[in-house]
Amino acid sequence: MHRRDFVQQALLGSAALAAWPRTGLLRPDGAFIHQTLRVNGERLNGWLTAFDRVGRTATGINRVAYSPADLEGRAFTLDLFRQSGLTPRIDAAGNIVARVPGTRADAKPIVIGSHIDSVTDGGNFDGPVGSFAAIEVARTLAESQRRLVHPLEVVVWQNEEGGTYGSRCWAGLVSEADLDKVARSGKTIREGIGLIGGNVAQLASVHREAGSVHCYLELHIEQGGLLEKAGLQIGVVQGIVGLRWFEITITGFANHAGATPMDQRQDAMLAAARFTVAVNDAVRRVPGRQVATVGRVNVTPNTTNVIPGQVVLTVDLRDIEQRTIEQFTQTFEQLGRDIGAATGTQFRFSRLTDSKPALADARVMDLVQGAATTLGFTQQRMPSGAGHDAQEMAHLGPMGMIFIPSVGGISHSPREFSHAADITNGANVLLQAVLAADRALD
Ligand SMILES: [Zn+2]
Repeated sequence: MHRRDFVQQALLGSAALAAWPRTGLLRPDGAFIHQTLRVNGERLNGWLTAFDRVGRTATGINRVAYSPADLEGRAFTLDLFRQSGLTPRIDAAGNIVARVPGTRADAKPIVIGSHIDSVTDGGNFDGPVGSFAAIEVARTLAESQRRLVHPLEVVVWQNEEGGTYGSRCWAGLVSEADLDKVARSGKTIREGIGLIGGNVAQLASVHREAGSVHCYLELHIEQGGLLEKAGLQIGVVQGIVGLRWFEITITGFANHAGATPMDQRQDAMLAAARFTVAVNDAVRRVPGRQVATVGRVNVTPNTTNVIPGQVVLTVDLRDIEQRTIEQFTQTFEQLGRDIGAATGTQFRFSRLTDSKPALADARVMDLVQGAATTLGFTQQRMPSGAGHDAQEMAHLGPMGMIFIPSVGGISHSPREFSHAADITNGANVLLQAVLAADRALD
C-alpha cells in the first residue's frame, strides 16, 4: 500500500470517519454512510401513535377499505407524504404513490410500501408499520441528501385486506368481474376506487410489465408468534404461502333421530366431524409448516331431532411449497373416500380459491439478511402465512419482505401490538436493504 493511501485510509478509519457528515458527501464505496444512516424511530412511532385514533372504535380499529375511516386514514397518510417532502399522487387504481427520481434516468424503480386499510375490528400495526416506515425511509434519504441510482417509489396500496386490490391492479390481475365485487364497506370495488380518487376507466394505465421493477420491499408485522417465541428481532421472509380453499359437500341421508338405529345411519355430520379431525391429524403428522383449517360448516337441516343429511364445509390449506399443497390435496381426497365408505356418505370436493406460493427472491433475501446482520439484529428466515401486497409485486420483479415480532403472535385484533423498538429496527433494515438493493441486482 502506498503511504498516501495508507494515511487516507487511516484517516477515514478514525476521527475523520466519526465526523463524516450524514449529508452531502459520498464516500466512494458508500459503506460508512450506510452504516451510520438511520431512520428517525421516534418520528416514525409518533406517526403510528397519532394514527391510532383514526378509525378507532370500542371494538378495535375499523378502517375497512372505502369507509369514512379509510378516507380519513388516507388523508392522514397523504399529509405524512407531504410533510416528508414527497409529492404523492393517487394512481388510477387508488393507490397513493410518490416517486423520487434516481441518478440514472433509465433505471427501474425500487418500490417500497404497504397498506393502511384494516380488517373489521383490527389493530393499528398491520399495514401502517410498513407504509409509514417506507415514508420514513424516503424522508431519511432526503434529509441525508442521498440520492439513489434507481428511482424510489413509495406506495400505500389500497384495499389490501379485501384482496390486495391495489397491488393486483399493478400486476394486471383485476378483472371487470372483480370490480363488481362488494367490499366490506358495502361498496363495490369499482365504486370504492372512484371514491378514493382512482379512475377505473384508466385502470390499464397502472398495469406494469413483469421485470419492470428493480425490486419490491415491504416491512410488516409477523402476525404470528415465531419471532417472539424464538426471541428474534427480524424475520427474513422466504415468501408468501400458497393457498387452496376447498368446499366439500358431504351427502348422507336425513332421517328421524329417534327412530333410526345407530347402525343404519348415513350421518353427514358424523362424517364431517371425523374428516375435520383426520385433516388436522394428517397435517400434523408430517414435518413442516403446512397448515390446514376446517373453518366453515353448514349443516342441513340443522335441526335437533333430524340426522344431518348434508354438510358443506371448507378447508383452508397453506404452505410455501406448491408440492406440499398438491400432496395434501390427494391426502384429503383419500380421507374423504375412506370416511365416506365408513359412514355411508359421499364426499364431493370443489375448489373455491387457488393461489400459488409467491417466493421472495433469493438475492433480495440475502440483502435483507445482510442488512439485519450489519445492524446487529438476530434474525431467521421464515414463510409468511398471511397474504400481502408483496405476493402481487412478485409478478413484477424480485420481491422481499421484512418481519418484526408481533406481541403474543396476535393480529387482526384490537390486541395487535408491536414494540416501538422493533418497528424502528424493521425500518432500519428496510433502509439498509434499499441502499444495498440500489447497488445490486442489476
Ligand atoms: Zn397487512
